Amino acid sequence: MCGIICYIGEQNSIPILLEGLKRLEYRGYDSAGLASINPENGEVLFVKSVGKVGELEKKVKSTDFSGNYGIAHTRWATHGKPTEANAHPHSDCTGKLFLIHNGIIENYEILKKELIKKGHKFVSDTDTEVLAHLIEDNLKDNFEDAVRKSLAMVEGTFGIAAIHKDFPRKIVVARRGSPIIIGIGENEYIAASDVNAFIRYTNRVIYLNDDEMALLNDNELVITDLNLKQIEKKPETIDWQYEADEKEGFKHFMLKEIYEQPRTVENAVRGRLIEGEGISKLGGLEPVLDRILNLKKLTFVSCGTSFYAGLYGKYVFERLTDLDVHVDYASEFRYRNLKLTEEDGVVAISQSGETADTLAALREAKRKGSLVLGLVNVVGSTIAKETHAGVYCHAGPEIGVASTKIFVSQCVILNLIALLIGRRRGLSVFDGMQLVKEIKKLSGNIEKILEKADLIREIAKKYLPYQNFLYIGRHLNFPIAMEGALKLKEISYVHAEGYPAGEMKHGPISLIDEYFPTVAIATNGFTYEKMISNIQEIKARNGKVIAVATEGNDEIKNVVDDVIYVPETIDILQPIVNVIPLQLFAYYFADFKGCDIDKPRNLAKSVTVE
Ligand code: GLU
Repeated sequence: MCGIICYIGEQNSIPILLEGLKRLEYRGYDSAGLASINPENGEVLFVKSVGKVGELEKKVKSTDFSGNYGIAHTRWATHGKPTEANAHPHSDCTGKLFLIHNGIIENYEILKKELIKKGHKFVSDTDTEVLAHLIEDNLKDNFEDAVRKSLAMVEGTFGIAAIHKDFPRKIVVARRGSPIIIGIGENEYIAASDVNAFIRYTNRVIYLNDDEMALLNDNELVITDLNLKQIEKKPETIDWQYEADEKEGFKHFMLKEIYEQPRTVENAVRGRLIEGEGISKLGGLEPVLDRILNLKKLTFVSCGTSFYAGLYGKYVFERLTDLDVHVDYASEFRYRNLKLTEEDGVVAISQSGETADTLAALREAKRKGSLVLGLVNVVGSTIAKETHAGVYCHAGPEIGVASTKIFVSQCVILNLIALLIGRRRGLSVFDGMQLVKEIKKLSGNIEKILEKADLIREIAKKYLPYQNFLYIGRHLNFPIAMEGALKLKEISYVHAEGYPAGEMKHGPISLIDEYFPTVAIATNGFTYEKMISNIQEIKARNGKVIAVATEGNDEIKNVVDDVIYVPETIDILQPIVNVIPLQLFAYYFADFKGCDIDKPRNLAKSVTVE
């Protein structure tokens, strides 16, 4: 959600800013903008456009402007429509200040009224513009001081960057709740909301914490808190290789990422399994292992696809450990009156590690003394930093907004965490060894499904006329039904509902007729017969059924309309196999519909506002 990139150095900033914006595109946005100043002649380039970064690029390229510092932004509208006037950067009445912002200024209305009374003229509907005028109002002879004073007056969340014509070659950045990472290059600084935006130039970074600000100029980086007290921070070198954002022959990043999943699983388990002892080894959890083993209760908190990983995790932990396990939407958890104690553990699951609600939920749990663990993909992200301990997915960047490979990675790692705890709390070595053995076969099983992509594509084509889908599954496959439905709606804009199959008779069955097909996850296992009964109930009402079933089950063909066969594994891992055809089904369905699969409308990859 929203991308910030700024550059100051010896190079022309324009191509660096545009490339950075493109690498931030996956986060989701609706408009973009850029401001750069040429300090030699005072010339300013101030351009905004609605829609893709490509549109902004066209406008920028129609000028021959060159300037070696500037700021750029992709906006995901929270206040005001996605129009050019509302796109960032925002300016003040003098037209000399340029500001980009990620987050929400919650007290903007009251501030705006006061500023209007003082004569300030507003040109947008955004909350952000208030901050630009506030800085103008507070500006005397020190730019960073004016920014600091203004930030002290706002409530809400921000990651900001600001420049001013009268204070050349200075960029002020600050954060509260929205990430800002400063990359340190050779005689240059690049700050962004995501290292992906600048990793090509440097892997030496400084992470700003909440309520910190930094002044970037030619040869100096000064970090202070919002009271201007200087803070010493050493750059960290991050282990993140520059990977050209290339589709490698795939039509979309999402498809590439679906195909990467055998490798994703290998990366998730590499060095983390001891087969002979039927146990896992997770270095990131070792410092708090004693505390983990004394927990009375564990709660997974997360949002969206990560929520379904948590829901799956609940079933896995119930099976492998004796812990009392709960799962909650982070956005609900954060406002509940929870009876959390030191004997509680909370696992924050997030792809980006920046999800605002998940972060707030973990802070709430931490405040109450609970142990807070993280399961995230992005190394050095805020959740990774604020948790007591955690495990990284090591899934590499995921560009498609609808998550696929990171979901699979999260599910695999939840097994590893459960195994680590379970084997110390009663799970037999035999059961542990069997799980490890099957985890090692997972990538091969996923490969086998990918080989059937053409068949799944044909099925997707056949169901294109339908506007509504029901997804059902039981027990461990219930979260997968939810995730399958979410994938379809996210990228194809078709209505899809996930349900525990047993709940069908308590409501959704009334929707079933020949126009409302069902995707039923009916692989072998102790709930198989029950699933077949549910499928029969749908068939009896003329509903069409696509089943995901275990290879070798020939009987199911006689009951349903279409079958996608998947290889069999142990029931606890079967959902990880079963989700793959659902990802492919959603992908091909959306592709036939001509949807913008990697950047679905209204969605953002990293949801950094509440
Ligand atoms: N709240 C701001 C706006 O709507 C910033 C949104 C963003 O984070 O992109 O303009």
